[in-house]
Amino acid sequence: MFGSMQNVPLLVNGILDYANINHNEREIVSRLVNGTIHRETYGQAHLRARKLAQALQALGCGKGDVIATLAWNTHRHLESWYGIAGIGAIYHTLNPRLFAEQLSYIINHADDKFIILDTTFLPLMEGIADEIKNVKGFIVLADAGEMPDTSLQNVYCYEDLLDAQSGDFNWVDVDENAPCGMCYTSGTTGNPKGVCYTHRSNVLHTLVANSADVFALRSIDNVMPVVPMFHANAWGLVFAAPAAGSKIVNPGPNMDGASIYQLLTEEKVSFTAAVPTVWLMLLQYLEANKGKLPDLERVSIGGSAVPRVMLEKFERDYDVSVNHLWGMTELSPMGTIAQFKSGMEEMSFDQQMDIKVKQGRAPYLVEMKITDDDGKELPRDGKAFGHLVVKGPFIVGEYIKGDGGEILDEQGFFDTGDVATIDEMGFMQITDRAKDVIKSGGEWISSIEIENIAVGHEGVAEAAVIGVVHPKWDERPLLIIIKNDGADVSKEDMLKYLEGKIAKWWMPDDVVFVDEIPHTATGKIQKLILRQQFADYTLPNTKQAAE
Ligand code: ADP
Repeated sequence: MFGSMQNVPLLVNGILDYANINHNEREIVSRLVNGTIHRETYGQAHLRARKLAQALQALGCGKGDVIATLAWNTHRHLESWYGIAGIGAIYHTLNPRLFAEQLSYIINHADDKFIILDTTFLPLMEGIADEIKNVKGFIVLADAGEMPDTSLQNVYCYEDLLDAQSGDFNWVDVDENAPCGMCYTSGTTGNPKGVCYTHRSNVLHTLVANSADVFALRSIDNVMPVVPMFHANAWGLVFAAPAAGSKIVNPGPNMDGASIYQLLTEEKVSFTAAVPTVWLMLLQYLEANKGKLPDLERVSIGGSAVPRVMLEKFERDYDVSVNHLWGMTELSPMGTIAQFKSGMEEMSFDQQMDIKVKQGRAPYLVEMKITDDDGKELPRDGKAFGHLVVKGPFIVGEYIKGDGGEILDEQGFFDTGDVATIDEMGFMQITDRAKDVIKSGGEWISSIEIENIAVGHEGVAEAAVIGVVHPKWDERPLLIIIKNDGADVSKEDMLKYLEGKIAKWWMPDDVVFVDEIPHTATGKIQKLILRQQFADYTLPNTKQAAE
């Protein structure tokens, strides 16, 4: 016997249809590459996305083709995602912060047919044009009058392409399990690996993202996705905001404190999301300029661990509720979010911050546990730490073209490569990337926890902790620090500051001060490079220990 309900496929284009019908006048506000602020409605975006769909078909694109975007968050980039998905093709976000060789590798690996790009990135593409011969053409996100000179071949103007179409178009029918979007991990080791989202996985992710204990977007919200669309599916906000009917505020290329502050205040943003480095810049700007955030209610921070000082500043000084988020490209990208459970609202401020500093708990449709090296589940006691594995309908099942081989265990869980604890209330806390954890005398030391505490020192701008070879303990922690401008901090000050805040045997064996700490294209500390830089480093107490 079958159920008696309608079998309507879950397709992302239905989200923009919904926004067009029910929130037609809500705005998409964008700062463009040329600095101007552009405003349009969901109604206009819906029409323009359909015009783009027609234009792409006229260029010979169709079902299953991969069309890349290399662009900032703007209305045109948003229209592109929907226009591409609307012909049954696949949007593929390229991260401009990757090395040129990585970009050409990804473009060829994904078999990108066209590349839709901002003028900013023309030189980047010109530089690798000879390596990406299978690309049939480039669509530049600009008005006809703004089209720059370029050595690229087969270049089209986005606005001209749209002007030539009527917009009288029905989205192409596809199965809900058809591919819809593609995103590569930044690949700190080896080649980047691709993840391909389906219409269904994106729609399910949207429903979960908009549930009350996650982003809880409402039609009255003004939502600013600072997290770029070229990183980790923009945390799903390109779908979640129209599905709620929220106004969208796109920051374009400007993510500095002043530009973000301007949009937050002028557009009365109530919800925003980005990685910690963006918020560091904003908080510095606010402090220097005595800024206030009267309209901002919620900020979601993830991508790397939120330092407690940042959390406390938002909550105490600006009355903004922070929700720490953990996720990864492979999870569409949301995995956990720190939202209170019953009773936590009444706790003291400090207790609340203890909870919010954790990466949070799993929403519906994300199954999660920690395991030992043999795959045996470890207790949810907030102390045991092990491999964090996850399962669910918007979690990767395999990488594109089978790269990396079988990536699920027998029960269908995906190993995230992160090491974490889960407490009795279900709150997960990342202690490290599995490859960064410091193994000292058979026990694990969390580099992230020491880093988070170290950045709480007023003289510290950034901190990284790595394991350095030790004759007795295998590895011992080395604390690497960038000082704040003009700060006078010594090794002894740092060790004193850490005393009592971490277990004695976690205390770094040495502290070094540097001018620069290497970062990945997505702003994460490159521990691999640091470990190479300090490969021959001799800790001060090693001689003694070896004797
Ligand atoms: P990329 O490597 O391209 O930046 P992702 O954004 O998918 O790709 O990175 C995912 C990884 O980022 C996670 O596996 C985790 O190690 C780290 N991460 C994400 N959010 C957090 C967080 N809130 N705290 C600590 N680490 C995080």
